[in-house]
Amino acid sequence: MKVIEHLEKSRNPLFSYEIVPPPRGRSVKDLIDVVEMLSPYEPPWIDVTAHSSVAFYNELADGSIQRKIMKKRPGTIGICGIIQNRFRIDTVVHLLCQGFTREETEDALIELGYLGIENVLALCGDYLNFQKPIAKDRTSNKYAKDLVTQVTDLRRGQYLEEMSATAALDFCVGVAGYPEKHFEAPNLKTDIEYMKQKVEAGADYIVTQMFFDNSKYLSFLKQCRDAGITVPIIPGLKVLRSVQQLKSIPKNFYVDIPEPLSDEILKNPTHAAEIGKRWALDQVEELFANKVPCAHFYVMNDASLVVDIVKKFK
Ligand code: FAD
Repeated sequence: MKVIEHLEKSRNPLFSYEIVPPPRGRSVKDLIDVVEMLSPYEPPWIDVTAHSSVAFYNELADGSIQRKIMKKRPGTIGICGIIQNRFRIDTVVHLLCQGFTREETEDALIELGYLGIENVLALCGDYLNFQKPIAKDRTSNKYAKDLVTQVTDLRRGQYLEEMSATAALDFCVGVAGYPEKHFEAPNLKTDIEYMKQKVEAGADYIVTQMFFDNSKYLSFLKQCRDAGITVPIIPGLKVLRSVQQLKSIPKNFYVDIPEPLSDEILKNPTHAAEIGKRWALDQVEELFANKVPCAHFYVMNDASLVVDIVKKFK
């Protein structure tokens, strides 16, 4: 079922989750364990992140530098296939502009159709430390909006090359939003204007970057509605579990940790997980009181704290 249908049909607010494929060379078993932990709480859908190839540099014995290009975390489509078909849980496959040609994206979408996967999240993709050369006869998407347009074209049966008797591929498309602004956007207003273009290109819903201060999400929601964006805007949440994350999360995701939360963790670093869990629970309660349709947890393959929160609503 499509994300948008889950949102329309549910009488109660939902919990959805995002997980990350295992590092290259590791077994998928650990990830299956995470899905097994979440599955008793009937997730409407699970997102699986996507990763472009990146450059790795090795210094060889003769002092020269060897560059290798590889995906650190391959397997997004295969993992979605397992979750969708073994666990019967709907999946949302993340698709990226960066590092993929439009032709590769079209092939991926055809494969997703065969696997019975109906949902994609269209993203620009994280910064790459090398530029993948694009062959002369290939094309690429620059912004997420362009990727949404490609998926929307396929909904109408419009493939990159004209072919006769093509079947439409009817995906539900989500896009990303940033309550604290995308780090490259000059200001939030401009960022919201670009986000609106993604919706006008065909996006069915928005899911936000993680935030720890609900007032930022609620203000973002109002600004989006004032700008004429009417699709559901699902809040993204993360449970803090360690004192180290007070540095790593702002550095990697460009979001603020509110003072009361960081002060409490710094005073009691050994209780960081308990403090993080209580904070996230308070966030969910306030968001549900404000009638959000769903809380989306960035699980990152550590489901135990999230499960403790979700249990309280079942
Ligand atoms: P876009 O919407 O393309 O925007 C990128 C920037 O360009 C923004 O600053 C925007 O304001 C600006 N912009 C947009 N349109 C225009 C325009 N027409 N002209 C000029 N500027 C414009 N990354 C991964 O690699 N894999 C993942 O699986 C992944 N999952 C994510 C899930 C969520 C929910 C979120 C919030 C992020 C995720 N990311 C992931 C990170 C994301 O790829 C990065 O944040 C990326 O830098 C921006 O992606 P976007 O889709 O928001 O980009």
